[in-house]
Amino acid sequence: MAKVPMKSAIAELDGDEMTRVLWGVIKEKLLLPFVDLKTEYFDLGLKARDDSDDRITYEAARAIKRLGVGVKCATITSNAARVEEYELKQLTPSPNGIIRAELDGTVFRAPIVVKNVKGTVSCWQKPLVLGRHAYGDVYKNCEMAVDGPGKAELVFTKADGTVVRKTIMEMKGPGVLQGIHNLDESIESFARACFYYGLSEKIDVWFATKDTISKTYDGRFKEIFQRIYDAEYKARFEAAGIEYFYTLIDDAVARVMQSKGGFLWACKNYDGDVMSDMVASASGSLAMMTSVLVSPDGVFEYEAAHGTVQRHYYKYLKGEKTSTNPVALIFAWTGALAKRAELDKTPELADFAKRLEKATLGCIEDGIMTGDLAKIASPPARLVVDSWQFIDKIAERL
Ligand code: NAP
Ligand code: MG
Repeated sequence: MAKVPMKSAIAELDGDEMTRVLWGVIKEKLLLPFVDLKTEYFDLGLKARDDSDDRITYEAARAIKRLGVGVKCATITSNAARVEEYELKQLTPSPNGIIRAELDGTVFRAPIVVKNVKGTVSCWQKPLVLGRHAYGDVYKNCEMAVDGPGKAELVFTKADGTVVRKTIMEMKGPGVLQGIHNLDESIESFARACFYYGLSEKIDVWFATKDTISKTYDGRFKEIFQRIYDAEYKARFEAAGIEYFYTLIDDAVARVMQSKGGFLWACKNYDGDVMSDMVASASGSLAMMTSVLVSPDGVFEYEAAHGTVQRHYYKYLKGEKTSTNPVALIFAWTGALAKRAELDKTPELADFAKRLEKATLGCIEDGIMTGDLAKIASPPARLVVDSWQFIDKIAERL
């Protein structure tokens, strides 16, 4: 069989632990036999990042920008335990944080729907899509522990040298401080990406912040969304019969849990981090969710929404075959290949991506699935398989 050709390459960012193991199996069994795969490979495994003082992560981010499309495996964000485990030189920052800051943009996460796995929130009749702002806030913070009393201030030195100063707190004892920021330009592109997504999918857009408490910071988000909606999208939303709805974040959470789903929920960076795991797990499994970072200049990075599945990896290291669900990793690849095909105008590659998705979901709908889904499938699974068997079954169908 002739392999499906690729016109240009995608940036491939390898990762850590169980997802790194599955990454290799997916390539070997589902991609390389069928596609003349063109990638620029970057090893974002923790050790390689540490050895290169994170140079590799920045190089990978630049390659995604240059090539227009990237696909990323899950990676460890180091902490003290990891420094010991991997004998690291230092605590490295989150690679996702670095890439998101480099690319700016918004992460869209949508559930991968199969008919025999029902979500746990029974009122959600349609998939709920989450749009997470991927720049700034606590992910690019500057923080400090102070060991005794003193005055904490927020100081801004303008480009012309003028200084603006505000007191945060007269600290009476030891404590902690944090400075965060965002940029109008990034918030504007976040708003546009969300309205554009809503319009192209013909779904309502919800946005929420805590502007009653954070009048300036969150207030700016609210203001920018409203300004861009009124000026650029209101007429088109009305023509398409869809709505933009703003409320407070706590009110949004309460309403979401009683909604029918079927809209885009735009979230600030941290809200999106927390809420996307809630939406994913309520939709079945963390592995049944797509995740794509869309930058304002039209660059796309596809990844899985879950982490490196550390617990399963330790079992794997002991020689056990784990039943880790590879669906989100497979969909990261199909998303990237389909986008490459769209940009390169290569319908054969687009068709392959579709077939791979169909073969994957077909297996599950036929009752062949990994343990996470077997727990919640109805009708019950016919065959509960480990990751390797599951990928083999997909390859057979393909
Ligand atoms: P995780 O890898 O998302 O896994 C948490 C739990 O969710 C797993 O123990 C497993 O539950 C379940 N799960 C997640 N993905 C699954 C899959 N594909 N198939 C079956 N079950 C799945 O989160 P973590 O263990 O807290 O984090 C591990 C590492 O991942 C951390 O070092 C963190 O820094 C990193 N991380 C990376 C990313 C990213 O690169 N995008 C995102 C989040 C976390 P059971 O154990 O109950 O089976
Ligand atoms: Mg998270």
